[in-house]
Amino acid sequence: MDFEFTDEQKSFRSDVHKFINEQWTRGALEGDTTRWQAAREYEGSLADGGWLTMSWPEAYGGGGATYWEQMIFNEESAMANAPSGGQGADRVGPVLIIHGTQEQKEEHLPSIAQGKVMWCQGYSEPGSGSDLASLQTRAIRDGDDFIINGQKIWTSGAVEADWIHILTRTDGEAPKHRGISYFMLKLDTPGITIRPIAQLHDDGAADGHGFNETFFEDVRVPASNMIGEENRGWYVAATALDFERSGIHRMAGAVSPYNRLLEFSSQPGSRGSTQTIADHGPSRDALAQTRIEIEVAKYLGYRVTWMQASNLVPNQESSMSKMFGSELQQRTAKRGINMLGLYGGLRPSDPRAPLAGEFCRYYMTSVSLTIAAGTSEIQRNIIATRGLNLPRG
Ligand SMILES: Cc1cc2nc3c(=O)[nH]c(=O)nc-3n(C[C@H](O)[C@H](O)[C@H](O)COP(=O)(O)OP(=O)(O)OC[C@H]3O[C@@H](n4cnc5c(N)ncnc54)[C@H](O)[C@@H]3O)c2cc1C
Repeated sequence: MDFEFTDEQKSFRSDVHKFINEQWTRGALEGDTTRWQAAREYEGSLADGGWLTMSWPEAYGGGGATYWEQMIFNEESAMANAPSGGQGADRVGPVLIIHGTQEQKEEHLPSIAQGKVMWCQGYSEPGSGSDLASLQTRAIRDGDDFIINGQKIWTSGAVEADWIHILTRTDGEAPKHRGISYFMLKLDTPGITIRPIAQLHDDGAADGHGFNETFFEDVRVPASNMIGEENRGWYVAATALDFERSGIHRMAGAVSPYNRLLEFSSQPGSRGSTQTIADHGPSRDALAQTRIEIEVAKYLGYRVTWMQASNLVPNQESSMSKMFGSELQQRTAKRGINMLGLYGGLRPSDPRAPLAGEFCRYYMTSVSLTIAAGTSEIQRNIIATRGLNLPRG
């Protein structure tokens, strides 16, 4: 078994590493710039550097990069806590390349490839999350347009975004998966209202508002903004969800906090006046255990990439990687908080917070990781039914 990267891939990784270190700094999050604004600016640099859509086919403004190169880029980005490109580049664009009309490709792909437009995703509704196909937002045909009424929730980044891609019900009589259509809408279309949801881990301007409720009241959208066939939007969404779940970033997101914790724990005085945190047996065990889990998660992620590169379709393998990676992050955050003691719970704005409050923020944000992009329970259901052929519960 040879898990080594080739010399070419290693040199690619070092180029990526250099680019990220030069272009993305923690400083970008200081002052009044929100995380979303910083990400948007950085996406412009990614586009200029040819990284943003490097795995798209060249015909659509991409660089024709391999799956392994894309994976290396995503891994390095997550290890540096840097964005790797927004939903336009990693979801809407790839979905349009597969399901879009020629006009849609011409209209949207260039602006996505140039990092000019920010997209958000309108799937979830107050009554439809895991059971997404039960969604109730209606789109009713009116000549060459559709009129949309309903509500979406947890729309990440909607306040900052320019466009939204949403799922709507276009046939209320059909079985639930067969009456759904997929649309693209400009967020300044009359009838759309966005209401931010306050979050526990918001800590000043740097976080901005992550979540939003998005309301649609008699919103008129041209039929030409539909992606794929009418009432077949579910199958387009399935493509988008595959792009969302298959990432290495969940494992890699644990690496930077872990490394900072390891370094801090080894510093004299990190536990009382003379001792280090790492002198404490249970803390040492926790650090060693986390290192093992990071290695396991890495290879679960690499397996997904290997399957994609071998023209195999990862399915339960993506679920394993998603579930293990997001649960690993929660365990890492929890172990860190325990090791740092009561001071570990201080927020980034508190000058007494160890590691500038990073673990407090990490602990709170990590809670959502086993919910976003399909909960851990849903991933386990997929592994049980599609991987182990167990009956549906
Ligand atoms: C950080 C974050 C970002 C998000 N961003 C977006 C976004 O941009 N756009 C968007 O549309 N949505 C977004 N979401 C919403 C996300 O997709 C949903 O929260 C998720 O699908 C779960 O749906 P729900 O919250 O309605 O929970 P529910 O589906 O109501 O689930 C509640 C609980 O029941 C469990 N459960 C449900 N069904 C089953 C089952 N069949 N078997 C076993 N257990 C089950 C779940 O695992 C969970 O523990 C985001 C969520 C998070 C946390």
